[in-house]
Amino acid sequence: MTVILCCLFAMTAAAAQPNRHIVLIDPAHGGEDTGVVSDKLREKDLTMNLALLIRQEARKTADLQVQLTRNADRKMTTAERINAVGTVKSDCLISLHVNAGFGRKATGYEVYFPGFRQTVAGGSDSKAILGDMAKNKHLNDSVRLAQQIQSSLEKVFPRKGRGLRDAPSPLLDGLNVPGLVVEIGFATNPEDRKSLNEEETQRAVAQALVRGLQAYFQKGP
Ligand SMILES: [Zn+2]
Repeated sequence: MTVILCCLFAMTAAAAQPNRHIVLIDPAHGGEDTGVVSDKLREKDLTMNLALLIRQEARKTADLQVQLTRNADRKMTTAERINAVGTVKSDCLISLHVNAGFGRKATGYEVYFPGFRQTVAGGSDSKAILGDMAKNKHLNDSVRLAQQIQSSLEKVFPRKGRGLRDAPSPLLDGLNVPGLVVEIGFATNPEDRKSLNEEETQRAVAQALVRGLQAYFQKGP
């Protein structure tokens, strides 16, 4: 009897977690969509590894609960990733990518937040204006989140930041919560690739993202 009661109590405690912010981490690509492939690095695998490490690190905190858009190596549409936000009731989303191109010399990480241009063409009825205000709040929070993530990544990759960028993205534009795309480094750059393949770097990136998220939630919203 005692055993059963203990189990019940443990289950209830695990389900409630009232003070935790829910963060949806999106390991981009998956399945037949490999993303960037360069030497032995495959984007879909690296984003998955990072996502799992972020979830592990978040479990050590008292204030974050991490959910993933995919737990396995499978292809997902943008709409499925957006829908996952509602399913897990997440407070924000971070989509993880690995960069490629601009020659072998391009190196470093990039943080993208949603573009502001979409909110301009709202129409004039009050419902549309209220919708715009909500959207603007998410956009402002996205920028704030981007700043926190950038400053914590700066400690892992000093002077490797390529700046905060706003960019049209079907994923980010489809969200009704703050969201970011993080391009964690260049698979096409030999040094970035070597570093990203190291477990130590992956762990440091995961810890940095968790710290950035904690800082974001501690100062609002
Ligand atoms: Zn990608």
